[in-house]
Amino acid sequence: MGLITGLRCVFCGRLYSTRVAYTCPQCGVTGILDVEYDYRTIARVLTRRSLAARREFSHWRYRELMPVRADATVPDVAVGWTPLTVAPALGRHIGVGKLFLKDDGRNATGSLKDRASSVGVVKAREKRKTIIACASTGNAASSCAGMAASMGIRSVIFVPERAPEPKVTQLLIFGATVLRVQGSYEQAFQLCQKSCERWGWYNRNSAINPYLVEGKKTAGLEIGEQLTWQAPDWVAVSVGDGCTIAGVWKGFRELRTLGLMERAPRILGVQAAGAAPVTACFESGGPLEVVEPHTIADSIAVGVPRNWKKAVMAVKEAGGAMINVSDDEILDAMRYTGRLAGIFAEPAAATAVAGLRRAVAEGIVGRRSTAVALITGNGLKDVQSARAAVGAPFEVSPEGSGLEEILRQRKVID
Ligand SMILES: *Cc1c(COP(=O)(O)O)cnc(C)c1O
Repeated sequence: MGLITGLRCVFCGRLYSTRVAYTCPQCGVTGILDVEYDYRTIARVLTRRSLAARREFSHWRYRELMPVRADATVPDVAVGWTPLTVAPALGRHIGVGKLFLKDDGRNATGSLKDRASSVGVVKAREKRKTIIACASTGNAASSCAGMAASMGIRSVIFVPERAPEPKVTQLLIFGATVLRVQGSYEQAFQLCQKSCERWGWYNRNSAINPYLVEGKKTAGLEIGEQLTWQAPDWVAVSVGDGCTIAGVWKGFRELRTLGLMERAPRILGVQAAGAAPVTACFESGGPLEVVEPHTIADSIAVGVPRNWKKAVMAVKEAGGAMINVSDDEILDAMRYTGRLAGIFAEPAAATAVAGLRRAVAEGIVGRRSTAVALITGNGLKDVQSARAAVGAPFEVSPEGSGLEEILRQRKVID
């Protein structure tokens, strides 16, 4: 890995070699490490022109900026280079000048987590591990299991009691050993941690594994390239553990460092009001105060965010803002994102759209701005929540009795 210069602790600032596996040896589990690269060398290779000529339409097109060997075997399934589409009707509804949606629900297992898990399995293979483990509220798990399956690695997954059925089903389909922990995500996380230590499995938990965020940052790299290196004013990202938002910001920062982009966008971090410890840290200046999470957006229902510091630092550095939205606003955003843009977002993904709308209403995001909302997961992953947002279909008999009345009521006919 010639292009990595070391791993730096975000807490104490010490620099380590890549022989350190997870967190800072001095600070312990709170000492999250950040991968640093030789940007001078990378800048010579990764240019606007060289990227434009690349035929690799996945996030591996940025391989020099990823912590994997040039010849490493990567999963064959599709990860990254997800569509960035303009959504004019939704943009008008939200009140911004121009809105883009980056649809990461289109990744192989249906969420942005594939960006991280794909790097995780490559690292597991590199370290000659045959088992990868992960604790997750759902998406990181299904993604870890899917990527592991595609690489022929076994996966052991710890999910909290409340993980939605479709996500758990995905795990089983991918052949994972699924352990439903009778407790919270926090408890599942702890049990996974202990099990990895005990049995020597590779730990995919992005909170402690420094390499996974390197996969997540490719969402930022792609937005930059897809907008032909013109930064939008704002990029809205929902926040649970805080790893995604920190990753996306790192991507933009690197594009600036490499001279590929002149300025970086501001980042809007959005949390569900019932699970908003990161917003609280952002406002108070820390330290973290643990909360009991209550929100329909299961993927961001995190009471003890491991990456709160990285997330807060990212948003501050980006000159951005943090905002909270209610579950009703999230359900509403699921409805209008589907109706106005044709994209089915899971609750945690619609949270970014809801946050953007609120930020416009509060005057944080200007009405003429260009904004990107990161759709982090596909709505089919949690159909139950979606049904809470939209209700039931109309029942009609095969003869069509009552049909006209319904169509008139819906103003399909008059
Ligand atoms: C994991 C996840 C997030 C948030 O990412 P964090 O790194 O936990 O902040 C947002 N949306 C979806 C769909 C996710 O799965």
